[in-house]
Amino acid sequence: MKPPMLTVAEALAVLCAAARPVAETEWVPTLEANGRVLAEDQLAGIDVPSADNTQMDGYAVRAADCASGAAVLPVSQRIPAGHVGQPLQPGTAARIFTGAMLPAGADAVVMQEQTAPAGEGSVMIQHAPRVGEWVRRVGEDVRAGSVILPAGTRLRAQELGLAASVGLARLPVKRRLRVAVFFTGDELTMPGEPLAPGAIYNSNRFTLRALLENFGTVITDFGIVPDSLEATRNTLREAAASHDLIITSGGVSVGEEDHVKPAVEAEGKLNLWQIAMKPGKPLAFGEVGQAFFIGLPGNPVSSFVTFLLFVRPFLLQLQGVAQARAPLSFPMRADFDWPKADRRNEFLRARINAAGGLDLFKNQGSAVLTSTVWGDGLIDNPPGQTIRAGELVRFTPFSEYLQ
Ligand code: AMP
Ligand code: MG
Repeated sequence: MKPPMLTVAEALAVLCAAARPVAETEWVPTLEANGRVLAEDQLAGIDVPSADNTQMDGYAVRAADCASGAAVLPVSQRIPAGHVGQPLQPGTAARIFTGAMLPAGADAVVMQEQTAPAGEGSVMIQHAPRVGEWVRRVGEDVRAGSVILPAGTRLRAQELGLAASVGLARLPVKRRLRVAVFFTGDELTMPGEPLAPGAIYNSNRFTLRALLENFGTVITDFGIVPDSLEATRNTLREAAASHDLIITSGGVSVGEEDHVKPAVEAEGKLNLWQIAMKPGKPLAFGEVGQAFFIGLPGNPVSSFVTFLLFVRPFLLQLQGVAQARAPLSFPMRADFDWPKADRRNEFLRARINAAGGLDLFKNQGSAVLTSTVWGDGLIDNPPGQTIRAGELVRFTPFSEYLQ
């Protein structure tokens, strides 16, 4: 029986509907939480800034004392960052440095560039500040009691900085996903070994491992599994026992040497899809025991692209990301012709040129890995669509798929 043909959107919808986020959580130091997914809302215990403070090196004043634009005021005190000054007496100025708390009574800061020396212990304020000038107000960034990061946030540099700014030293996160991988194909050889006639290097192992590392998963690599039903079933069983997800490459076509389908069917359940996309096409999705199963195609570019399109959002959802953001895509000008329409949704490897348009890699073959290195990203070209130079196409940088 011919497997059903699905659109990219249909396949994605099935995957995302099936994904169950991991339940277990753990506390980790904020310093080690990069890439993890928050398990609970995080509230600020303090205002940030915690008090009014100065944005500039200069003088803290009462704005009303400086209305003339040439006020000479005695300098009553000196307040470096991290030190607390005395209340500011009317008619005086306090020397103050960026980040220092405003003394009580001051309501503005005049930057030092707008002042001049005025004899021993005094300063000429050559500017009439408005109330609040150069003052960072208490709580203007974060209000105590507010949710700064909701559960389901994937923590990046920005989120970690924000968490630290309200003093959070530890964060509750979802446990890491455990992902098992293996690679089918009797032709596969590891780099470092001599290449026998008819053999190829197992490049997918390197691509897939790096992609999984990027998403912070714990990886168990079962290596190359021979093209036999027995070996494939054994590896699946072992992997299913202690992993959330099993990912394989190759063997998901319907040839005699493709054992993944019967093996997963024997050990669990499987949907084998033909996806109307190029590169890509065959994709297997199922479950073995407690583990999900995704079988990627063997062709290296197909395997890479199907990971970006399908495994990425699935992984994010398993990790507990609340709303996996769709990769940002941008309308960009094609600086090439693509005259032959395909029935399938094409994902063309393209590069941004100096004129701000897109160039196309000359060989779009699904085994041509150089296209993925040369390219900056993918053009999402809908089924049946030709492209003429000058037209707009939808472009997604690879970097968008890696977050
Ligand atoms: P398959 O999906 O097993 O029919 O493989 C399709 C194509 O991808 C064949 O040309 C394979 O040799 C190639 N291929 C399969 N697995 C890998 C791999 N791990 N690394 C590189 N190429 C592969
Ligand atoms: Mg094969």
